Amino acid sequence: MARILITSAIPYINGIKHLGNLVGSQLPADLYARYCRARGHEVMFICATDEHGTPAELAAARAGKPVAEYCAEMHEVQAELARGFRLSFDHFGRSSSARNHALTQHFARRLAENGFIEVVTERQFFSIADDRFLPDRYIEGTCPNCGYDKARGDQCENCTKQLDPTDLVNPRSAISGSTELELRETRHLYLRQRALKDEIEAWIDSKTDWPILTTSIAKKWLHDGEGLQDRGITRDLSWGVPAQFPGAPWEGMEGKVFYVWFDAPVEYIAGTAEWADARGLDESAWRRWWRLDEGAGDVRYVQFMGKDNVPFHTLSFPATIMGSREPWKLVDYIKSFNYLNYDGGQFSTSQGRGVFMDQALQVLPADYWRWWLLSHAPESADSEFTWENFQVSVNKDLADVLGNFVSRITKFCRSKFGEALPEGGEIGAAERALIEDLERRVRAYEAHMEAIEIRKAATELRAIWAAGNEYLQSAAPWSVFKTDPERAAAIVRLGLNLVRLYAVLSEPFIPDASAAMMQAMRSEDRTWPGAIAEALDALPAGHGFATPEVLFAKIADDEREEWQRRFAGGRG
Ligand SMILES: [Zn+2]
Repeated sequence: MARILITSAIPYINGIKHLGNLVGSQLPADLYARYCRARGHEVMFICATDEHGTPAELAAARAGKPVAEYCAEMHEVQAELARGFRLSFDHFGRSSSARNHALTQHFARRLAENGFIEVVTERQFFSIADDRFLPDRYIEGTCPNCGYDKARGDQCENCTKQLDPTDLVNPRSAISGSTELELRETRHLYLRQRALKDEIEAWIDSKTDWPILTTSIAKKWLHDGEGLQDRGITRDLSWGVPAQFPGAPWEGMEGKVFYVWFDAPVEYIAGTAEWADARGLDESAWRRWWRLDEGAGDVRYVQFMGKDNVPFHTLSFPATIMGSREPWKLVDYIKSFNYLNYDGGQFSTSQGRGVFMDQALQVLPADYWRWWLLSHAPESADSEFTWENFQVSVNKDLADVLGNFVSRITKFCRSKFGEALPEGGEIGAAERALIEDLERRVRAYEAHMEAIEIRKAATELRAIWAAGNEYLQSAAPWSVFKTDPERAAAIVRLGLNLVRLYAVLSEPFIPDASAAMMQAMRSEDRTWPGAIAEALDALPAGHGFATPEVLFAKIADDEREEWQRRFAGGRG
């Protein structure tokens, strides 16, 4: 048994996330957390809402609400949707928590004491029309790197380059659209990432097992152009973690807060503290996950995120941790994802294009989406959601293969033997061949899950379901029963045991269907299978079961067409 700390990139607070966001971090993190728990490991799975920064202020202003109230409401909305998708966080925290305020200020203080913070006087855009300084996302313009004309002042969405507002070509105010901007003098705190560059690089070089997507992005920002740059970590905003606080080792930061990208990853740690607080546990309960000197030495820490978040997790956040010169846990493995596209274009929150988490659950239960999204996860390249592909995948994999198997075996048993596993008969060559095949496939499935190769794991799981279906088809207990009921009983007993085995193996992907299968088999034995022959002997003759309702309904063509139309025009 190992201890595994898992964090998903924290979703931003300003609205409901689309399925592309979901499959880029929270959903695969949940898959892995569920798998690790099923294998008996001690898991801490943390996520939160990312609540600071300009978009929260802008969204709250549009909603006509104080920003704190807006964030509290949106946190509840996102938490409810996470429950709807069965995301099994140990804690879903908030980056605006008191814990995160304290920890963020702690890290800033330590960085300053160690010489990694610099006070820089710089010229910043002041908008005459808006009568204020414009921080990062309050400015838009053309990306100097790729020419994208809606780049934000902190990052270009198109090429992922981290930017400063003054890098933008043709800058304009995101509040008023005014181009009447003036550069005025102001002071900010900078994180001296250049001073930590060699340490960060040596650390990244030591991660030889990381996905190429992760290391290639990290190395790009370490080496491209002028290499890793120092980074401004304060902004002229009121909503956030104050950069001037009692005992701060600098002066004159009144009215400024820490940049959202400085405090957001600290929330992984703070969220674990919030988890302990919510359970009335003491400090050691969360610190044993994060402090190498307080028990975290044997923790394996895995992060999940979309590729646009990789620079912050491989460079900026490690710089914060390393520069603190305190023994905090650094990430061991970063699983990053490409983008999921929607029907010939991109998902877009701003344009309301694609399917959003709330809409998805209004159309179909979570398992349908979980299965499609995970089995098509954009791992090695971008992938695309189309309604045709979704229909085919649901109908074939879930309804025709898994659902059909469960339905046929339970209904046949009920009609010929009643609702209990029948006695008599012995397994023969066909069953031994199936067991051998499953033995190999289950071990391969485990290996893919350990390696977090999600599509490969899904392919293997589908093959495991298909093997049972093919076995049942060729063993044909409905024919055998006429001449040799004992032999038919052995086939059926094995088949019903397969239902339980499938429930256990499938739980990380489709937890609701898994629960329904376990309930139908009247079993609570979720033991992960060792030897397959033993696992298929778990339910003895005479064990009662219930014939389940249809596990997965097929998607009809007219339904698919209706959804296609409904989601073509963007959110209403
Ligand atoms: Zn760009």
